[in-house]
Amino acid sequence: MTPEKLFHELLGLGLNWEVAESRFERESGTVFLEIRETARLWESARCPKDGGLVFCYDHTEALTWRHLNVFQHRCEITCRLPRGKCRQCGHVFRVRPPWEGLSIHFTKEFEAFALLLIREMPMAKVAEVTKESDMRLWRMLFKHVDGAYAQADFSNVCCLGVDEMALRKGQHYMSVFADLVAKKVIFATEGHGHETWEAFVQALEAHNGHRYAITQVSMDMSAGYQKGVQENCRNAQVVFDKFHVLANANKAVDQVRRAEFSLGGKDIRESLRKSQWLWRKNPENLDQDEQSRLAKIKEKNLCTGKAYQMRLVLQDIYRSPSAAVAHKRFKVWCRWVRWVARFYKSYVFRAMVKMADQIEDHLQGILAHWKWGLTNAFMEGLNSVFSAVKRKARGFRSPVYLTTMLYLVAGKLRLPHV
Ligand SMILES: [Zn+2]
Repeated sequence: MTPEKLFHELLGLGLNWEVAESRFERESGTVFLEIRETARLWESARCPKDGGLVFCYDHTEALTWRHLNVFQHRCEITCRLPRGKCRQCGHVFRVRPPWEGLSIHFTKEFEAFALLLIREMPMAKVAEVTKESDMRLWRMLFKHVDGAYAQADFSNVCCLGVDEMALRKGQHYMSVFADLVAKKVIFATEGHGHETWEAFVQALEAHNGHRYAITQVSMDMSAGYQKGVQENCRNAQVVFDKFHVLANANKAVDQVRRAEFSLGGKDIRESLRKSQWLWRKNPENLDQDEQSRLAKIKEKNLCTGKAYQMRLVLQDIYRSPSAAVAHKRFKVWCRWVRWVARFYKSYVFRAMVKMADQIEDHLQGILAHWKWGLTNAFMEGLNSVFSAVKRKARGFRSPVYLTTMLYLVAGKLRLPHV
């Protein structure tokens, strides 16, 4: 078997194409496969406009497609693609070769392999491994993800999770919408206000979903999202999820710590110095050193210690067997927080009192947690997925790159798209 015949088989070229020449270029370490069409091509080729018979009009200049390596050597296919002309309508078109992927620089096989790598490692690394430019790889990824996303079906979406993800620290947000039943990301867009909901609903309905089919939404207590739900998905019951409520409580504890630190004397400052991580953990997750430090701080009867207790109690309320029990305990919790705040200097506890106000204002949505038993585990996990996505897209942080990478990693799309 000649090398040309071997490559013909490997590429699955069939009867319409043949490998005219194969050669190995030493300097670049590249295998070149020169392919051309056979006369058979014109027997089966048809006009893309009206299906009419076509004849060979002319050829393009030599084009190149990157293929899978051959024995670790870079392999490129070159071909002067024929252009056909329709006998009926005179339309002239470029014949699409069977090896070409969605991007004009790569073969299908190379694209499938590159997609595999992109799932597993940062784009810069994929570019390094494959010795391709990252821009070409991104363009290829866009074509596959856009193509597959266009065909995604959202007709079954009813339970939604939405969360904001920071593009850069503390500024610039994206809102990510997920199907909590299918556990996949279905939409992401810039911003974190109510207007993101309009964009979401449009995307939902462009994929056979319906805004009024959304019956539950799990989210944080931001005013923007609440407005977005009210205006766009009137059948949706809002569930303020446990994850965000407790995250807010953690933030409040931290604000109490800061307030106490800045107002306190030398002794208090010494106790609280570099203690912020201590207060974010649960007691059972503290190591020996942390436990003894916490015990020492507790002896001093600091406000931060009290706020930490409040957070732990709040967390415990989530173990209540029913919404009715939880309702009572939330009420008691809010009264307790306000009482403590009055007893001590209220300025220090201000963040905790705000937390109590927030809980009372959003109690119905918080208690919906018991009604629906909706777990937000997927959304919680998404935070680390999004961090990974940001690492993967290092150097390409604009929303379009991040969205594409997020859909690839968490969108459960059919890829490669063909
Ligand atoms: Zn035609």
